[in-house]
Amino acid sequence: MCMTWNERFADTPRVLKSEHCQHTVVPILDFEIGGSEFVTMAGPCSVETELQLMATAHHVRSSGARILRGGAFKPRSSPYAFQGHGLQGLKMLARARSETGLAIVTEVMCEDDVPLVADYADILQIGARNMENYALLEAAARSGRPILLKRGMVATIADWLRSAELLLDCGNPHVILCERGIRTFETATRNTFDVAAIALLNQISHLPVIADPSHAAGHADLVPALARIAVAAGADGLIVEVHPDPAKAWSDGEQSLNHAEFDDLMASLDPYLSLRRRALREMEWMRHMASDVETMEAVG
Ligand code: PEP
Ligand code: MN
Repeated sequence: MCMTWNERFADTPRVLKSEHCQHTVVPILDFEIGGSEFVTMAGPCSVETELQLMATAHHVRSSGARILRGGAFKPRSSPYAFQGHGLQGLKMLARARSETGLAIVTEVMCEDDVPLVADYADILQIGARNMENYALLEAAARSGRPILLKRGMVATIADWLRSAELLLDCGNPHVILCERGIRTFETATRNTFDVAAIALLNQISHLPVIADPSHAAGHADLVPALARIAVAAGADGLIVEVHPDPAKAWSDGEQSLNHAEFDDLMASLDPYLSLRRRALREMEWMRHMASDVETMEAVG
């Protein structure tokens, strides 16, 4: 006999949809993630300079992004690569936030830094390399800030959901999942974008799911297509790397879009977002019909 999804993920009951919880909506400043709005987070891989960050922040805001991304503490594949500006980077993010009104998502890499990063960030990002760092997860959850939980590079969906379960179990309901590609035998792309994970989570979990086409693709020219696929698969939003001059980026330049490319990406999402709105309206209508039928049956 086939297992149901709920049986298969029975050890992570808090992340699964239930009668009481069909959708988690995470409030951020004056908007929400996981509601009807499709939310785009955009910005550089790393916070480099005031000029770079402010130019990008103003630009992505004018193109419709709601959240500015940018790493102040950077987990890098090489120990010799730029590791981020730390506190100075957080201060630059705070300035960008006050100048543009964008919310800030930035990575926290260790438990001890949680209080500091939580002072500056609207959303704490847990990076792929730390998805199973339970001490960090607990500290991040207890900060009370919403958490963007990236999928580990070699994490199965079950592993990823166990980390989300821990965050929920620590009493933080504001968990956002982020599919950023997984490591497979394919090397042409940086990672393999697991769209099935987005579709599955949309079906079985009440948590919002964000797609990161930048780290999934590793190449700027593939990012727009993966972003459109993410909308079609049911993602609640995107996190995209954008840089004023990707060739000069201090990290992840190959996968970063320049400002004009980001505008093109946003424009190319429009037809997909219209279909998404239509699907949401239809689902809402079905829910109303179902509750009307229930009421009629109860009345007799
Ligand atoms: C990043 O967002 O720049 C990053 C390091 O992402 P990941 O943890 O998904 O590799
Ligand atoms: Mn990056």
